[in-house]
Amino acid sequence: MRGKRAVVLGGAGFVGSHLCERLLDDGAESVIAVDNLITGNEQNVRTLKPRAGFQYVKQDIIDGLEVDGPVDYVLNLASPASPIDYANLPLETLRVGSIGTENALKLAEKKKAVFLMASTSEVYGDPLVHPQKEDYWGNVNPIGPRSVYDEAKRYSEAISAAYERSRGVEVRIVRIFNTYGPRMRLNDGRVVPAFVGQALKNEDFSVFGDGSQTRSFCYVKDLVDGLVRLVLSDVRGPVNIGNPREMTIKQFAEAVRDAAGGGRQIVYHPLPKDDPKQRQPDITRARTLLGWEPKVLLEDGLKETIAYFREVAGRPSGT
Ligand code: NAD
Ligand code: UDP
Repeated sequence: MRGKRAVVLGGAGFVGSHLCERLLDDGAESVIAVDNLITGNEQNVRTLKPRAGFQYVKQDIIDGLEVDGPVDYVLNLASPASPIDYANLPLETLRVGSIGTENALKLAEKKKAVFLMASTSEVYGDPLVHPQKEDYWGNVNPIGPRSVYDEAKRYSEAISAAYERSRGVEVRIVRIFNTYGPRMRLNDGRVVPAFVGQALKNEDFSVFGDGSQTRSFCYVKDLVDGLVRLVLSDVRGPVNIGNPREMTIKQFAEAVRDAAGGGRQIVYHPLPKDDPKQRQPDITRARTLLGWEPKVLLEDGLKETIAYFREVAGRPSGT
């Protein structure tokens, strides 16, 4: 990454801010974080602002993208990502995935930059194949409540592949599985901040359904390492990045209770519509093509995440 220039779309979000930090740590000459803060927070890049080569630009990528000078990498992470966020922002999610992604691809084409599309395990929908390999085409309800996100990401992949085929843009597609860590929003509704928040306030754990649905949780630093390896590689076609350690949501509540030393009992709530029953990445492609695999144990990653949420809870509001 030494001497390279990157534009990170969605750079003030949870994953985007960690990616900006890693690029700077790896010696990037310039990292421009573009974000409209629709679900992100400028606070996430507060410690990056004084660093040489870092710039934050508040902008909606739906309105077009202009960047001065050469760019080596356009990394597109801009999109609401939690089920509550995309349910509240359905049209914004569809537009950023479609118009926003095309604007990002046009920038990559103009700058002759490598383009990274941050796609998602949600392209597999409620998967009928388990674990999920990249050659599985998925089981998505095109009009259900999750479709604004799933179909936007499927379209993002399709238009990225089309720019690669017809315009010669160098495209990398990553399918990110559930990722957690510091800088998640406490109220974003995802299961990690929900359970950690409940543990810290010594409240009941809100398990949706009977808690038998599964997820596989990857620590954000592991994910970011996979993203960097992918953009530096010449790997074509989608690559799953996630942690294959799968567990039920009920087991996950117990893991959070153990790590935080708090929280009361599990209370069951209705399962949201179309909630995937199982999810686990097959990471053979990442292992063999990128030499990547996750390193951080859930127990250790949860400790870091809990410490972050404790610190945020202690900050004066609005900071
Ligand atoms: P996030 O909400 O914290 O980050 C997304 C960022 O994109 C936010 O800062 C938001 O303000 C910004 N954004 C949204 N629309 C924009 C627009 N029109 N113009 C400019 N900026 C815009 O979510 P995250 O968890 O950091 O997710 C980052 C990316 O990774 C997303 O594309 C998401 O789909 C993908 N992803 C994340 C996970 C995960 O578990 N965190 C899993 C699969 C995929
Ligand atoms: N979930 C839960 N309680 C919560 C939030 C989520 O039981 O307070 C469940 C949710 O129904 C899903 C899983 O946890 O089965 C993961 O949800 P999340 O929103 O984090 O991500 P998803 O993988 O569904 O996009």
